Amino acid sequence: MEFRIFSKALYSTWILYRPERMLIDAGEGVSTILGNSVFAIKDVFLTHGHVDHISGLWGLVNTRNNAMGDREKTLRIHYPLDNRRIESLLRFVVDMNPSLRYEMEITPLKPGQEVFLRQAGSFCRSIIPFRVKHTPSEISYGYHIMEERRKLKEEYTALSQRELSELAKEKGRDSITDRYKKKLVTISGDSYALPVEEINDSETVLHECTFLNAEDRRNQNHAAFDEIMKSVTMARGIKRLILYHISSRYSSQISRWKKRAQDKLDNLGIDVLLVHPERYFEI
Ligand SMILES: [Zn+2]
Ligand SMILES: [Zn+2]
Repeated sequence: MEFRIFSKALYSTWILYRPERMLIDAGEGVSTILGNSVFAIKDVFLTHGHVDHISGLWGLVNTRNNAMGDREKTLRIHYPLDNRRIESLLRFVVDMNPSLRYEMEITPLKPGQEVFLRQAGSFCRSIIPFRVKHTPSEISYGYHIMEERRKLKEEYTALSQRELSELAKEKGRDSITDRYKKKLVTISGDSYALPVEEINDSETVLHECTFLNAEDRRNQNHAAFDEIMKSVTMARGIKRLILYHISSRYSSQISRWKKRAQDKLDNLGIDVLLVHPERYFEI
């Protein structure tokens, strides 16, 4: 399993990305649904300070303190620098848990500030926050989960497999390859439709889609289906699109909208999934 998600606009949103034991946002009910899996979480990355994205944080911190589980691991919490709502919630959570039995690290992040996640064998993963447009008063981020990979240097691309392995033996693999960073996952946070540059070459895009029908939107704070489809069809290299943060007014129309998205994106080879606002989602 890669993702465990609950997301219903206005009520609660949280996204668990299991390969990195990471939680993006911590809406209400997160620890109730995750149960003992809260002990596996290493990092929490908050997108912004609206209540539907942070109200489960106190419960999460507290459950890890009191339930039966491993308290050896540090819990790292990251949030957009200068976000006052989150800072005041964090002060409260720390205040209410004066004798925490595990380490908790709280780090404000600037846009573009890369956070190391994990090195395993030949790959190295990190996460990079970026600014998104949401409500004007709220400092809001999306996040890119990155993986450092290697590719053959341009001057060696014409060589045969045999020549390459001989060259690698002679010079070492590092000297015939260049490192580059690949976007594995992009998470929009609450945002307008992300610009094409932001989602280009990202394998999996998780995009908020509060409004399936743009005509239902009163304020320009959230993304609507058609705008996301426009960005996604113009972008390159996307393999999977997961729409989340859908308003519950569309609960009975999810399969219809999923089909509509598939009709637009199937010929581009993009899989589409919609997170039903009334159901817990796993993939
Ligand atoms: Zn929200
Ligand atoms: Zn919001």
